[in-house]
Amino acid sequence: MRLAVADQVEAGIDIITDGEQTRRHFVTSFIDGLDGVDFEHRTTVKIRQRYDAAVPRVVGDVSRSHPIYVEDARHLRTLTDQPLKYQLPGPMTMVDTLADEHYRDRETLAMAFAEILNNEARELVAAGIDVIQFDEPAFNVYMDDVAAWGMTALERAAADLDAKTAVHICYGYGITANIEWKHGLGEQWRQYESTFPLIAASSIDQVSLELANSHVPIELVGLLEGKEVMAGVIDVATDHIETPDEVAATIRRAMEYVAPEHLFPCTNCGMVPLSSDVSRAKLAALGAGAAIVRAELSTTG
Ligand code: ZN
Repeated sequence: MRLAVADQVEAGIDIITDGEQTRRHFVTSFIDGLDGVDFEHRTTVKIRQRYDAAVPRVVGDVSRSHPIYVEDARHLRTLTDQPLKYQLPGPMTMVDTLADEHYRDRETLAMAFAEILNNEARELVAAGIDVIQFDEPAFNVYMDDVAAWGMTALERAAADLDAKTAVHICYGYGITANIEWKHGLGEQWRQYESTFPLIAASSIDQVSLELANSHVPIELVGLLEGKEVMAGVIDVATDHIETPDEVAATIRRAMEYVAPEHLFPCTNCGMVPLSSDVSRAKLAALGAGAAIVRAELSTTG
């Protein structure tokens, strides 16, 4: 974790995370710490309508008998004075990464998870975390469910936190199943079109979205008026290292719809499938690209 923090500081990143060094998977590592879930006897389900995975089974009421990441967050707080962000899985994405043999109702299970997430998030904030992000890639797949119960569950998870709250909605990190799925989405990716107005009307503060090399029509960013936008300006599905100028160009596109003070350039998604050398170089490009735009803004006033 110390090395991950050092890499981010070196690259000029302002809001620091643990680099997810304390988890193997963004969803199941959290679920692993809960009661009511059987990890020993897995079953195979289709994840986000895309790929088969052997997932844990919900076999009883889910509950959190101990904090999951709070000790890690306390340690992270000792490593830097910069603002900190911590990521938790979103309730809908958790539901989608399990076989539910107990509640047998996605909404009920999502609300149970939302309650647990809210308790964990409160303790993370007490440990000194400034931004709590919920990762909800499922929001790009089950748009009707987002409207029916997904947003309600997310807002419950994020309720009354003394921190910024964020939701990360991506097209997945660079694994083959995701890349193939993206190829089938056509010329324009309009999934955000139905979810962004719901988020704009919600209590969530920030939205992390995918822009770099994506087919998301840029004007959809305008649907998030009033929210802070974490714009993905680094493609995590290729080893190509963006130049600072390429990064700056993507940031400028986002600025057509987001005021600079509400804009936070970041990566499209996590970099877990990439090598550490490539990840480090991409972080440096992110920092350098943001610095170019920041310099432009300070001279144009
Ligand atoms: Zn993602």
